Amino acid sequence: MSPALLVLASGNAGKLREFHQLLAPLGLEVHAQADYGVADVEETGLTFVENALLKAREASRLSGLPALADDSGLEVDALAGAPGIYSARYAGEPKSDTRNNARLLEALAEVPEGRRRARYWCVLVLLRHAEDPVPLIVQRSWEGEILQAPRGEGGFGYDPLFWLPDQQASAAELDAEQKNRLSHRGRALQALVAAMAPEPARS
Ligand code: IMP
Repeated sequence: MSPALLVLASGNAGKLREFHQLLAPLGLEVHAQADYGVADVEETGLTFVENALLKAREASRLSGLPALADDSGLEVDALAGAPGIYSARYAGEPKSDTRNNARLLEALAEVPEGRRRARYWCVLVLLRHAEDPVPLIVQRSWEGEILQAPRGEGGFGYDPLFWLPDQQASAAELDAEQKNRLSHRGRALQALVAAMAPEPARS
């Protein structure tokens, strides 16, 4: 049987790689929206869920396929929740992980260890078609602390600065399998897959 196709409503190569690793074993093939000529939409929402819906609807409309959108970001307590929904462009345009990480370190320069608590959020939206009135929506977080200097080469985005006390490692020091098992995205996807299972028939 050929795998079911989903379009990922994102141009982020790090997310595409992680979704591919997570969905391929389930027989779901995830394609980049760029393969269907879908460009990034303007993220005009004020919440992750609004932005995820906007992205999924546009990708499904233009591709004619079911669409999965991930809107995610980093919430830092000492920065009143910033960068939040603006995580991808925290240091302005064009998007740059290196400049975002530098800006985060600068913003926290005066904040001592122990007060650098943060969490990633991931909101996933699955639309069966562009006018789907019942999107599947899940959200999960991943708690950590912001380091004073980057560590590790893996992952993407803020991972080299995201310290996991339980693992005694940064997110960029985990291998792909470990990150997918623990992360906001990996656990949101497990919840989404569970929500996709058909409800048992009632007698
Ligand atoms: P989005 O593509 O608009 O959802 O922006 C997500 C942004 O949040 C990314 O560009 C990263 O800066 C950050 N982010 C989300 N998830 C992760 C992750 O797993 N690791 C590192 N950074 C992440």
